Amino acid sequence: MQQDIICVAQAIQRAERILIITGAGLSADSGLPTYRGLGGLYNGLTAEGLPIEAALSGPMLQRDPALCWKYLAQLGEACLGASPNAGHAAIAELQRRKPGCWVLTQNIDGYHRQAGSPVERLIEIHGELAPLFCQSCGAEDSDLAAHLKKPLPPRCARCGGVLRPPVVLFEEMLPEDAIGRLYDQVHQGFDVVIAVGTTASFPYIVEPVAEARRSGGFTVEVNPQRTDISRWVDVHLAGRASDVLPELLGHIPGH
Ligand SMILES: [Zn+2]
Repeated sequence: MQQDIICVAQAIQRAERILIITGAGLSADSGLPTYRGLGGLYNGLTAEGLPIEAALSGPMLQRDPALCWKYLAQLGEACLGASPNAGHAAIAELQRRKPGCWVLTQNIDGYHRQAGSPVERLIEIHGELAPLFCQSCGAEDSDLAAHLKKPLPPRCARCGGVLRPPVVLFEEMLPEDAIGRLYDQVHQGFDVVIAVGTTASFPYIVEPVAEARRSGGFTVEVNPQRTDISRWVDVHLAGRASDVLPELLGHIPGH
């Protein structure tokens, strides 16, 4: 693996444009449960006998906001109760050293921003948990932690409407602006694409990797397990993101 890490570090050093795609595996190193999209907190059904995908869906938020919020609150508690790890920090530092380095994340925990990744080079494709906003009047409310201590669903201080986080719930569309920014960058091309802790076979994860391969870019996967994309990438670094990324950074000179 040491040889592979040096090989990847050299590719990063030579590269101008880099895309790092991150998934649940990165935040799992912070102690967060690995959820597929928003699900996967549960292997079976919720206490109400529903698949988690139904409980955490856009239609459920409208039909039974208290039930949807019961599970949003569990996600919120998990994210507020943990913090970014050495992997997030290494990514933010790499972005500082490499001004052409972008991050595309499936995670909704906001840890990339907390670790110092610049928002103008960060695409949160599934949205984020904060700030909450009112579905009726649009007012923003940034105190998720305070609302989680009160009866659910949280209500708007201005109009009493139900608040929600700017996450993509099941059966909801991905945010158009995030998709637009992603494909704009993918069309400009990347010299190196690194997938970290993602098992997803979503097209917006697979396509940037496939596009880099087509255009002669260098592709890397960081994941303890093998995934759908393992057989396509140039190098698979089998390890935890919070171990592998700081080690990788150690081989890339700072300024
Ligand atoms: Zn309101």
